[in-house]
Amino acid sequence: MVTKPQSTVRSRATTGAPSRLVVSRDAIAENTRRMRALASTPLMAVVKADGFGLGAGVVARAALAGGASELGVATCDEALALRADGIEAPVLAWMLHPGAPLADAVGADVALSCASVDQLEAVAAAASSLGVTAAVELEVETGMHRSGCPVEEWGPLVRAAVAAERCNGVDVRGVWTHFGATDDDPTSFADPLLRLDAAWATARALGLRPRRRHAASSLATAIAPAARLGLVRVGAALFGIEPVAARPLGLAPSIRWETSVAQLRDVPAGASVGYGGGYRTSRRGRLALLPLGYADGIPRSAWPGSTVVIRGRRHPLVGAVSMDQCVVDVGDAGVGVGDEVVLIGEASRGEPTLAEWAMLLGTIPQEVLTRIGARVERVSDGRAA
Ligand SMILES: *Cc1c(COP(=O)(O)O)cnc(C)c1O
Repeated sequence: MVTKPQSTVRSRATTGAPSRLVVSRDAIAENTRRMRALASTPLMAVVKADGFGLGAGVVARAALAGGASELGVATCDEALALRADGIEAPVLAWMLHPGAPLADAVGADVALSCASVDQLEAVAAAASSLGVTAAVELEVETGMHRSGCPVEEWGPLVRAAVAAERCNGVDVRGVWTHFGATDDDPTSFADPLLRLDAAWATARALGLRPRRRHAASSLATAIAPAARLGLVRVGAALFGIEPVAARPLGLAPSIRWETSVAQLRDVPAGASVGYGGGYRTSRRGRLALLPLGYADGIPRSAWPGSTVVIRGRRHPLVGAVSMDQCVVDVGDAGVGVGDEVVLIGEASRGEPTLAEWAMLLGTIPQEVLTRIGARVERVSDGRAA
């Protein structure tokens, strides 16, 4: 496999952006190794949504260095972006929306997942227009009622695939499903797995020869050995997001989000802060301005409750978060303009973590990560090769 060389040094604040998301390639590679060792199956690194917002190319290379054998994305565009970045590893895309660039994807050797006869026929048509065979996987819906082919339509889909294989337009290499369960209970995967088995048996009985079955994402990989099958598709855990917070695997945190103090202001007790003046200082002190806001991924709901670390101490974010700025009440602490501010860091250093943010914001770490905005410079750190 040939990939472009990656720099081994940390390039810092090269664009002068107001904040930086430092992505640890070593952490992603290490988490990949951990999950692959746990699963003892091949591992697909899921790098959809631009690698959960961290940069798909960087994440993909780190995961491949850590032992991932292939990559998974939602859309054809995401798959094509990996190819444009020089990544030649196998890629599967599973969100075939109307207007998706199927022929480009097939031409770039991207495997496509089909969940309906229409999708299968569109992929077969794209392949025959190019005179090539498209690698295809079929997704069956097993209880989540989201994507995938409904069980009642599985027979017709398999028959259409058998017909397309006869014309050499497609090669159905796999059958898969996705679980809806999010609780720490391996038995919740049992029923979907039975349905996947039945779909697999039907596919084979009707004449397909798929080589693999897969179902598990991070959670099932961690807690349900029976769900690991021939491949695990792991996303969240690569970034250090623990599948079961109460029983952590000890995954490495993969990001650090930093900015610096843009301005300081002395205020009396009773000074109101931000739009609506919802926060008032309780004593004389200082307010630090941070050069990022909700457009950068700090939601308005971050106040009240969030804290940041400056010079090793926690300080509260105060007042309504603006689009491009927010304010921290540093009281009488010694803080200077230009001081580093840690928005998301490591628990071991007393810094706010991704999990802490998610908890506070009433969401999951994945949403916090993928909402970090375009103005935030992505900087990669570590070797990972
Ligand atoms: C996002 C996704 C995954 C990875 O899930 P994680 O919980 O992030 O590990 C696997 N499969 C599909 C189809 C997905 O959409």
